[in-house]
Amino acid sequence: SDERLAGLETVRKLGGGSHGHCYLMRGDDGRLVVHKRVPVSHMLPSDQEVAEREVNILASLSHPFIVRYDRAFVEAGQLCIAMEYASGGDLSHRLDEVRKAGRRVELPQALEWFAQLLLALKYVHRLRVVHRDLALKNIFLSADGVVKLGDFGVARVLGNSELAMTKVGTPCNVSPERCEGKPYSFESDIWALGCLLFEMLTLRPAFQAETMPELVHKIIAGAHAEFRESDGIPPEVEALIDTLLAVDPSKRPTISQLLDSPIVAPHATRFL
Ligand code: ADP
Ligand code: MG
Repeated sequence: SDERLAGLETVRKLGGGSHGHCYLMRGDDGRLVVHKRVPVSHMLPSDQEVAEREVNILASLSHPFIVRYDRAFVEAGQLCIAMEYASGGDLSHRLDEVRKAGRRVELPQALEWFAQLLLALKYVHRLRVVHRDLALKNIFLSADGVVKLGDFGVARVLGNSELAMTKVGTPCNVSPERCEGKPYSFESDIWALGCLLFEMLTLRPAFQAETMPELVHKIIAGAHAEFRESDGIPPEVEALIDTLLAVDPSKRPTISQLLDSPIVAPHATRFL
């Protein structure tokens, strides 16, 4: 076998998505890492590009709230991306557990995750990267409960145009401008953050519909699901979510404005 895999044993398969499968691995020293394996030999060139892009973007990032990338290599026709294991799982699973237990995510907890995401995004935006798939399943938690933004498979470094064109993007947190075929922008990540904060606090998706046209219609109208009395969200936090979900991208707050806002600042400053 390959010396790059020597001393590593497979603990279990974590799951698989559209671009490969993830395995939890343990080294000689007991250290746990994740290997994402992407078949490359019979891959469409476009999928190969997605995989390579993920590697290149991950390799260039180093931040406490972003999944750390170790290395990548090709072994037996598979591209293997070795990265930090976020043992707290992803936020999608976490919210499922909270729902099942009939509980809620407390506001300070949601705002802390939100602040950590903002700091991670501030860092990637400065490197001219937009994530493009900010979704609960791509936000991981470390053992000590801090956010680790991951899955940069569809992210992309912005060119001179300041805007990135893409055909990809999961429908759930897709912004009105993307629905209208306009390019992805930093503001589109802000919209996605609004969808995420809405769902963390209500445990319901901000936008949901039976059919795609209906979903697109709601998004373009900015008609997110209603807040409920029982959600217990303070009016100023509802107002904040409403600004994140402004249909006009230029009306959305910037990351810096959000980090300075009285609602978010107390949860961000201890990391600055
Ligand atoms: P998808 O995101 O489409 O489910 P992935 O291949 O990205 O597919 O991930 C498969 C599974 O592995 C998911 O359950 C995900 O939560 C988990 N996973 C991926 N990367 C990590 C990581 N760095 N740390 C912990 N769990 C991870
Ligand atoms: Mg994933």
